[in-house]
Parts: sequence; structure tokens; C-alpha cells
Amino acid sequence: MTAKQFPALSARHADPHSYPNGIAFLDGQYLPMSEAKISVLDWGFLHSDATYDTVHVWNGRFFRLDLHIERFFGGLERLRMNIPFDRDGVVEILHDCVALSGHRASYVEMLCTRGASPTFSRDPRDAINRFMAFAIPLGSVANAEQMGRGLHVAISDKVRIPPASLDPAIKNYHWLDLVRGLYDAYDRNAETALLLDFNGNVAEGPGFNVFAVKDGRLATPATGVLPGITRRTTFDLCAEIGLVAEARDVSVAELRAADEVFITSTAGGIMPVTKIDGAPVADGKVGPITTRLKELYWQKHEDPAWSTPVAYP
Ligand SMILES: *Cc1c(COP(=O)(O)O)cnc(C)c1O
Repeated sequence: MTAKQFPALSARHADPHSYPNGIAFLDGQYLPMSEAKISVLDWGFLHSDATYDTVHVWNGRFFRLDLHIERFFGGLERLRMNIPFDRDGVVEILHDCVALSGHRASYVEMLCTRGASPTFSRDPRDAINRFMAFAIPLGSVANAEQMGRGLHVAISDKVRIPPASLDPAIKNYHWLDLVRGLYDAYDRNAETALLLDFNGNVAEGPGFNVFAVKDGRLATPATGVLPGITRRTTFDLCAEIGLVAEARDVSVAELRAADEVFITSTAGGIMPVTKIDGAPVADGKVGPITTRLKELYWQKHEDPAWSTPVAYP
């Protein structure tokens, strides 16, 4: 089944001023974001029983959409969820959401909740899974000022939910550890948080991975983290320009002693970190490797090998 079989908003509305808050696809229909609502009985809401993926559109082009679709379908399979669309069907719905919204810079999410059981059964196999998607204006972990001077992060003593409890490759909404980490950070006058893994090494933050640069070599935590697509893209960019990057344990001490630190997310790309727990990273300025990777990252958004255009009406 493809989205085209469903009633769609008129393509005449493809003006970002008509839908400043974006467009959603829900229960077979395209809707303005304000009308996209789900039942409070949905287990996605009651139990965080859901998986999702987020991709972005920049200058009217999706970036590495195929990788996001693959990760999303991997999550569905591991959680034993079924949706009435194949990969091409989901791609089409995402394109339609962006095209109808008219936004040329958009944060695009596909998600599936367990849904609810019509008989109030507690057996997840009885629930009817619910697929949704939406395209909203692009947001970033770091605002323009923070991009310029680098983010200030705090290292929380909270431990990221361990892989033995939940396979981190399933992108999920189990965010209470991350949200508690954020409050720790705010209490310490920082702007965002990094959590630890089960062994006390650095793991990741609320929706982002982290890299340390030392003597021109890059390292990022290998385990207990979501394998981010911006993280993967950073590896690809490093390979292209001859930088060594490895996934391995990164200790808190190593992060504090790094020459440069940056975080990676679809929500903002490659973002510099210049302060950890109030202390500057090296000289406290955004480093040259971070800047170079960031520039390359955005250049790649024009490359047809890594991006696909949205057909706006
Ligand atoms: C989405 C996410 C990331 C970043 O992944 P990208 O694919 O680069 O956006 C990192 N950690 C967590 C927990 C996430 O949910």
C-alpha cells in the first residue's frame, strides 16, 4: 500500500506560511500538525512502547534518507511491530509530508507505536500498531550562538539505559535518564548533558553522540549508544579526508583532556563543545577539525550521492 491511496491535503497548500507548524500523516490522512493526535490508551504514550527515526531536509533535499529508513525498519523488526507500508511507501509519505508543508528545512520523523488493544488486553500481540510521520520546521540541539562559541555540557552521573536492557540500535523514547541528565546540567549552569555507560565511560546525550579529538585522531563511544547516522557520516567524512576515527571506550578523563569535542545529531549536525563542567576544552575555542568536518557535512547535503530532492508542487 502506498500513501497515494489515502486522501491527501491539496497540493495547493504547499506554502510554508499555510502550515508554519508542519504536516503530519496519521491514520491514513495528511493533517496540519495541530490536528495530529493519538489516544491516551496508546502504549506508545503509556509505556514508551514505540520506535522512531528522524531525518532532515536541508535546502529542499533529504539527507541520507536510505540509512534512516533502514534503521527504522530494523527497529520495527526487533520490536515485532508491523506497519502497512514497505520502505518505498514510507519514503513516499515522508516526501509528501515535506512537500505539503512547503518547508525547505525540515525535521522529519517516522514513528510506530504499539498502539492499543481493542479488548483492553495486556498482551502486546493484541495491540494494533500505529504508524505516523510528520514534517516540522528544522530544529537543532545547538542554537546559532552556541554553534558559534561551542556548547557548554555537564557530565551527569546518570547511567544511560544499558544495552542489556534495551538494544540501543532501536531508536526509542526511553528518555527519562536523558531528561534527568538535562536537569543535572541546568542545575550546574550547563546547556546540555552527557550520560555515562554502565562502566563509567562516556556514552551519549539527549539525542546526540559525542566525539573527542586528540592529536588529530577522533574517538567516539562504541557501546551503549545509538548508532547515529550523523556519527556514521562523521566516520565517512573522516575516511574521505584521511583522518583516523575509531569507536571504542572513551573515559571521562579522556574527554576532559581532549583538544576538541563535538556532538553529532540529525537535529543540528556536527556541533562544537567548548566547555565541560565549567572548564574549557583545550583553549575553549571551536577547534579546526570540528569546523572542517562541520563545513564538509553541510556541503554533502548538495551531493546527489548523499541526498535526494523533495518534489515541491
Ligand atoms: C537520534 C539519537 C542520536 C543521534 O542519531 P542521529 O542519527 O545522528 O540523529 C543519538 N543518541 C540518541 C539516544 C538518539 O536518539
